[in-house]
Amino acid sequence: MIILKSLQQIDCMRAAGRLTALTIEEIKKAIRPGITTGELDALAEDFIIKHGGIPTFKGYQGFPGSICASINDEVVHGIPGLREVKTGDIISIDIGVTYDGYVGDSAFTAAVGEVSDEALHLLRVTEEALHKGIAQAVVGGRLSDIGHAIECHVKSAGCSVVRDYVGHGIGARMHEDPPVPNYGSAGRGPRLMAGMTLAIEPMVNLGSHEVRVMPNGWTVVTVDGSLSAHFEHTIAITADGPEILTRA
Ligand code: MG
Ligand code: MG
Repeated sequence: MIILKSLQQIDCMRAAGRLTALTIEEIKKAIRPGITTGELDALAEDFIIKHGGIPTFKGYQGFPGSICASINDEVVHGIPGLREVKTGDIISIDIGVTYDGYVGDSAFTAAVGEVSDEALHLLRVTEEALHKGIAQAVVGGRLSDIGHAIECHVKSAGCSVVRDYVGHGIGARMHEDPPVPNYGSAGRGPRLMAGMTLAIEPMVNLGSHEVRVMPNGWTVVTVDGSLSAHFEHTIAITADGPEILTRA
């Protein structure tokens, strides 16, 4: 069941989204060659707690970190730890923040120092695809319009959309109905209404769309070893159009 939010509830989600965005700004400032994913995790966790939030991911289904940190061919759910990021890497950071009972969920992929042109292409295409999807989150549209716009953009740029993981409704819980795939035909699924709050999150590979889970049970990697990127925002559908809640 899709839970519609009142204006007051969306206001609470705005606060959660703002803290999520501020935490992301801190992480972006800290990313540099030589820093470990564990250091980024500690920094994020401290920042969230200092500002009155709760790191939503920590302990979620047993996940040990406050962020997911996924490098290069890692798609999502990378466990922060002792791995250092190097010049030429790309790193995807996913973060959830609970504040005043509501959750913000957002992700980005950053280049570490100088990276290849194809890596830059992947980052640009994935972020553009996110915004193409968000642009479809309008009253009167249909849910699958979002994924259709994302997939069209990604395919036209010669990349592929991960199908095994999708976006989701979000609110007092991180994962609510409906699932929000990043692919498919337009004009299907629930009609979009004001008060819906969604986490839209394309995961895009330079090579094949196929992914697998590593033996640690968490880290998802591309089967062909190609680079992968991930951008996500929590948005609200309003009468005036989509509002990005996870923007500072
Ligand atoms: Mg996320
Ligand atoms: Mg999410």
